[in-house]
Amino acid sequence: METQRLQWHGKGSRVSIEEATTPIARVRDALNTDMVGQQVRVQGWVRTKRTSKAGVTFLEVNDGSGLRNLQIVVPESMPDYAAVVDAATTGASISASGMIIQSPAEGQETELRAESVEIVGSSPEYPLAKKRHSFEYLRTMAHLRPRTNTFGAVARVRNQVSWSIHRYFHEQGFLYVQTPIITGSDAEGAGQMFQVTSMDLKHLPVSEGLVDFSEDLFGRPTYLTVSGQLEAEIMATAMSSVYTFGPTFRAENSNTSRHLAEFWMVEPEVAFCDLDGLADLAEDFLKRIFSDVLNESAEDMAFFNQRIQPGIVESLERIANSDFVRLTYTEAIEVLQRSGRDFEFPVYWGADLQAEHERYLTEIQFDAPVILTDYPAEIKAFYMRLNPDGKTVAAMDVLVPGVGEIIGGSQREERYDVLLRRMKESGLDPEHYWWYLDLRRFGSVPHAGFGLGLERVVHFITGMQNIRDVIPFPRTPKNVEF
Ligand code: ATP
Ligand code: MN
Repeated sequence: METQRLQWHGKGSRVSIEEATTPIARVRDALNTDMVGQQVRVQGWVRTKRTSKAGVTFLEVNDGSGLRNLQIVVPESMPDYAAVVDAATTGASISASGMIIQSPAEGQETELRAESVEIVGSSPEYPLAKKRHSFEYLRTMAHLRPRTNTFGAVARVRNQVSWSIHRYFHEQGFLYVQTPIITGSDAEGAGQMFQVTSMDLKHLPVSEGLVDFSEDLFGRPTYLTVSGQLEAEIMATAMSSVYTFGPTFRAENSNTSRHLAEFWMVEPEVAFCDLDGLADLAEDFLKRIFSDVLNESAEDMAFFNQRIQPGIVESLERIANSDFVRLTYTEAIEVLQRSGRDFEFPVYWGADLQAEHERYLTEIQFDAPVILTDYPAEIKAFYMRLNPDGKTVAAMDVLVPGVGEIIGGSQREERYDVLLRRMKESGLDPEHYWWYLDLRRFGSVPHAGFGLGLERVVHFITGMQNIRDVIPFPRTPKNVEF
């Protein structure tokens, strides 16, 4: 954990070290770090205020460094006591200096005995005072929800997971590459796309009844990317093992608890790798994320375990220490048909699996993460490698309890002729993908990759009910306020 946060003055000069601010999480932990008795300054936002009959005021303050608030004890003898205490209402930002002491009271190990408190910004009539608010309501208050326990914990776990992702791939020797957000490929096969244009939509240049895209900045239609995969393949067929980690956009009108219109996706792409190798990578990678978050965000995870989804810590521990179940799509269809369940969507070979089917497999049948492989070619993208049976492709999805699919990936078609045929069958114009085909002409290799939705994994880890509550500013149909 960082020890100090240096503040910046307006003129750009750093303040002296004596004026450095100590994160509240460190003050809370002072018994373990021998900091009791030290003089520190903390800065944060008031959660609650309570004044005792004896004329002492207790401020609960949080600065986002951890779940637990710091109790700041403000004695009546402090200069400006009455004015400061009056203004230190919920939501106010304060800067306080004093000594860390062992707390004589229940509820916290340490507290700060204030010698001075400065109100940095007052907050009369804070709208989220006291009572509990629903997550739906808090979505309408996304500018203040990070100040609640739940959303603070989500933000820290999300940060931990992002960091863990980078660390894992770095340790595995993957190269972090950036792929474009604006793309000219209009049919990557992953979902509905948002169009991007520099033209004035109120005065579109029209020629022969059609919009004339030669007037557009790029001289052709462009879109927000739905996946960095195709470009990641370019990089992988030179650099061997790469990953991208960036925003992705899907213009689907899906109002579910698992879909966002803008989300972050991690996409490793590995040359000289087949589907089995990819499944091994996915399993190892996920287990590492789970164990990292259990080790490094223990306090926040205990909160989710207690308040959001009882049992989540234990199930993550179990998952991190046992094998994922692996079976083919064809086997999964048989399991679903034998289940005797009355599914809303019919189960037959060739059907796309729905969330209800995925959740049956991972929650009821196996009670573990499941890696499903070898899907029918018709329901998967053109670039997935055709299996020898001619009917299925080397695709894989990783399913987890509570969420369903969190990873989708495949071994890519590396054979020029087969890829060309599959492209034409999918109604794509090979000329648009000349560069993608070229990779199969100049030193083609078996290669494979997957996409993991960051929000899906945070959704799973935290046990939050809705994916909109694991991204600070969710974009969903009719919702882009913040
Ligand atoms: P689903 O069937 O759940 O809609 P998908 O099969 O369309 O997902 P892929 O194209 O395989 O998704 O994308 C790879 C991964 O990106 C998914 O496994 C998931 O983790 C994540 N993902 C896909 N769509 C979304 C979305 N709309 N919101 C959040 N995450 C998503
Ligand atoms: Mn998928």
